[in-house]
Amino acid sequence: MIQKTKKFPLAIWIFMGLILGILAGIALMKTPEIAVQYIKPFGTLFLNLVKFIVVPIVLFSIMSGVISMKDIRKVGKIGIRTVVFYMTTTAIAVVIGLTFANVFKGTFGQISTSGLEYTAKEAPGFITTIINIFPSNIIDPMSDANMLQVIVTALFFGFAVITVGEKGKAFADFVESANAVSMIIMDTIIKFSPVGVFCLITPVVAENGASILGNLLTVLVVAYGAYFIHMAVVYSVAIKAFAQMSPLKFFSGMMPAIMMAFSSASSVGTLPLNLECTEKMGAKKDVASFVLPLGATINMDGTAIYQGVCAIFIASCFGIDLTLSQQIAIILTATLASIGTAGVPGAGMIMLAMVLQSVNLPIEGIALVAGIDRIFDMGRTVVNITGDAACTLIVSKAEDKNG
Ligand code: ASP
Repeated sequence: MIQKTKKFPLAIWIFMGLILGILAGIALMKTPEIAVQYIKPFGTLFLNLVKFIVVPIVLFSIMSGVISMKDIRKVGKIGIRTVVFYMTTTAIAVVIGLTFANVFKGTFGQISTSGLEYTAKEAPGFITTIINIFPSNIIDPMSDANMLQVIVTALFFGFAVITVGEKGKAFADFVESANAVSMIIMDTIIKFSPVGVFCLITPVVAENGASILGNLLTVLVVAYGAYFIHMAVVYSVAIKAFAQMSPLKFFSGMMPAIMMAFSSASSVGTLPLNLECTEKMGAKKDVASFVLPLGATINMDGTAIYQGVCAIFIASCFGIDLTLSQQIAIILTATLASIGTAGVPGAGMIMLAMVLQSVNLPIEGIALVAGIDRIFDMGRTVVNITGDAACTLIVSKAEDKNG
């Protein structure tokens, strides 16, 4: 569990890291190369450590979650609830993003689109995404940190242990022990998160500070407004109605994970801290260890909002007015695209290409927002992980009721 120092809980330390990092970033805005050369590497080191432990955590925690449920039907029931929650909130998120952008699009469009160049990286299609879920060997998912494949691997083994009965006992004990060992490594890494957060945020502010002050500010404000409304309305209502928890308690319990997500822009990197936060708020361990890794991979409400806002922004920069049916196409594509988006920095921008293509918008438009993608990304990651946590607490509550 999160180790409390004698005086301050970890959340306060992380908060101090974040604030000091922002201040240091502002101080280094004129010489960003100092932040990039001397501070960023330590942020990268910290993120590497987090990524290093994520695969064992996801693998063993999902396996042990499944094994401890002892019943494949129960896993199926939780899985269906989770996917329904994730898809519904993501669709609502795009609608909020599109609505915000439509209301405020009068303030967009001061940006010139001449001389734009952007080569879209290829985003996988829907069928490819489905096919890619299934690994063709057992090592690749782990060495590539392909989370969906790691999840599938863990599910296969977990189901098999339940099915095989007595003979699976030794394997189940091993998983239990490996899970405990991975958690200790994770706890140790998390203790360094205040420093990690400082080193991650300083170069971002130092490098991007100046460009945000330019005319992209409006679109950023619109995206952040939509992120905020989605969290304050959709998650608060859901948490209150389905988990019978005060939204205030929920958000304050989430603070360490939120700050980590904001600085790292990675749902997967925030997973260990999110596990801690939700379990502290009373989520069942087996549910959290199944629902959260799944969410870090397939649930991206913030990314969906960003895609909705950017689609309208790019369209209006090119003087294009999107019809209602085009906007419905955006809702569908963004909801599906968020499933194929890995929880790592910058992934959402690649999927934006797919969303733009679905309504024939010029992909070069991505170049308009690419420079400050990291700033969009920090906010959308916060929304993404908060959605994962809300779902975890809700599904956990439902399990409590069902006994
Ligand atoms: N960085 C986001 C996440 O990890 C994904 C994205 O780029 O939208 O959740």
